[in-house]
Amino acid sequence: MNSFVNTYANLPKEFYFPFQPDKVPAPKLIGFNHALSEELGLGLENTGDNELAQIFSGNKLMNGTEPIALAYAGHQFGQFVPQLGDGRAVLLGEVDTAKGRFDIQLKGSGATPFSRRGDGKSPLGPVVREFLVSEFMHRMDVPTTRALAAVATGETVHRERSEPGGVFTRVASSHIRVGTFQYFFARQEVNHLKTLMDYAIARHYSDIDLKDPERPLLLLKSVLKRQADLIARWMSVGFIHGVMNTDNTSVAGITLDYGPCAFMDDFDFQKVFSFIDRNGRYAYNRQPHIMLWNLARLADTLLPLMEGDDTRNIKKLEKELSQFELEFEQCWRIHFCRKLGLAESKDGEAMVQSWLKLLSDFKLDYTLSYRYLSEALNNDSIPEFFASTGDQGELFIKKWKSQLEAENVNPYKAAELMNTINPLVIPRNHWIQKVIDEVEQGNVKGFDEFYEVLKEPFKSRSKDHPMTLPPAVGEQVETTFCGT
Ligand code: AMP
Ligand code: MG
Repeated sequence: MNSFVNTYANLPKEFYFPFQPDKVPAPKLIGFNHALSEELGLGLENTGDNELAQIFSGNKLMNGTEPIALAYAGHQFGQFVPQLGDGRAVLLGEVDTAKGRFDIQLKGSGATPFSRRGDGKSPLGPVVREFLVSEFMHRMDVPTTRALAAVATGETVHRERSEPGGVFTRVASSHIRVGTFQYFFARQEVNHLKTLMDYAIARHYSDIDLKDPERPLLLLKSVLKRQADLIARWMSVGFIHGVMNTDNTSVAGITLDYGPCAFMDDFDFQKVFSFIDRNGRYAYNRQPHIMLWNLARLADTLLPLMEGDDTRNIKKLEKELSQFELEFEQCWRIHFCRKLGLAESKDGEAMVQSWLKLLSDFKLDYTLSYRYLSEALNNDSIPEFFASTGDQGELFIKKWKSQLEAENVNPYKAAELMNTINPLVIPRNHWIQKVIDEVEQGNVKGFDEFYEVLKEPFKSRSKDHPMTLPPAVGEQVETTFCGT
C-alpha cells in the first residue's frame, strides 16, 4: 500500500490549520472511483462499501493522513477578501503515484477555523454534481481535479431548504490557488510567499530551476500557458465554470471548484447559468478575459519576489501577461479546428467562426451539432438536424466540405475522427438534476447508469437514447447555484 507524504503539512504553520473532520451519523456510499483508487495505491481493492463510506465520510481516517485546512485569500467577483481558506474542506494528505503527487481532500467535512458563518457541510446535490462533471472532464482530456468518492452522511443540511448532507472526496495535483499567493501577499509575508512559490515550482513546474532569479517570471509564463490551454479546452466542450474567482483558479492549471458550473445545451456566446453571476462576469465568452485578469492578480504577488528595480520588473510582468491573448487564440484554434476535422490554420479558424455563428444564430445544440455535422460527410443530403438553418446551413456545410477536400482529408476518416473528439453524451444540467433528485430519495440506480455512460462519451448510441438528448420543453435547468 502507498503511504502518505504530506508535504504541505511540512510547510510553515501559517499555511494551514490542523483540523479533524467531523464524524457523521449514517454514512452511505453513493459513488466510488475504483480505478482512481488503484492508481493512488490506496490498497482499498477488497474494502466493502460500508467501510469505504466510513473512510470517505471522515469517520475513519486512513493511516498516515494529517488533516489540515488550507489558508488562502481571493478576489470574489472582483472584490478582494484577505482571508477565505478551506471553510468546508480538509486536506487529508498527499500520495506519490506514477503520474505524480496527488492531494486527497474531503469536501463537506465540517466547520474549520476558516468557516466564518458557514457550517462546513455540503448538501448531497453538489457532491453528486462534482463527481459526475469532474470525471467527465477528465475523460475529455480537460485538466481537472478528480472524483474519488461520494458519500451521503445521514445528516440534514440547512440551506434554502433542508437537504441531505454529503461528503465529496476530491483528488488534485494540488490545491494551490492564485488566492494562496494573494493570502501571503496581502499579509506582506514575503518569506512565506517565496516558500509558496518554490513549493509550487517544485511540485508543478520542475523544468524551472529553483536557483534561477527569474523564476517568478518563469512561473507566471508557465501558469499562463496552462491556463490558456485550459480555458480553450473548457470552451471547446461548452463548459462554463461559473465562478472564476481567484480563489478558484489553480496555479497548476487544472479545473478547480465545481460550483454553479454547467455545459451549454444550445449555443450562446453570452451564456450564464450561475444564479449569483447577475452581470455575466463569468459568461461563456468572457472566460479568457477573466483568466487574464486572474493571472494579473498572480503577477501582483510575484513582484516582491523579483530582484531589482520595481518599475522594470512591472514592465517584465506586463510583457509576460500580454502573451496571454496570443497563447489563448492559438490553443483555441487547435481545439476548435480539431472538432471540425480541420488542420489548425487561419482558414480553419475562419471556418470555426462561421460554424459558431451558425450555431448561435439558429440556437443549435452545441454537443449534438458536431455529431450531426460528421454525418453530413457520409451523406450527400444535409442531416435533418440542420433543417432550421436553411440556406445558411447548406452553404456552411458545402464550404466546410470543400475545405476538407482542399486539405486532402478522406471524408469517412474525418467523420470517424470527429466522433472520437466530439462527445455524444455530456453531463447535461437537466440530467444531473434528475440524478440528484433520485439520489436524494435514496435511489442510486440512475447515478450508476449515468456514471457508466459518461465513461464512454464518444460511443455511438441510438438516436433516442435519453442521456444524449437536450432537455425537452419544461426540463431545462437555466439556473445553477453554488450549492454551499
Ligand atoms: P467557493 O464556493 O468554493 O468558491 O467558496 C468560497 C469560500 O467560502 C471558501 O473559503 C469556502 O471554504 C467557503 N465556504 C463555502 N461553503 C461553505 C460552508 N458551507 N461552510 C463554510 N465555509 C464555506
Ligand atoms: Mg472555492
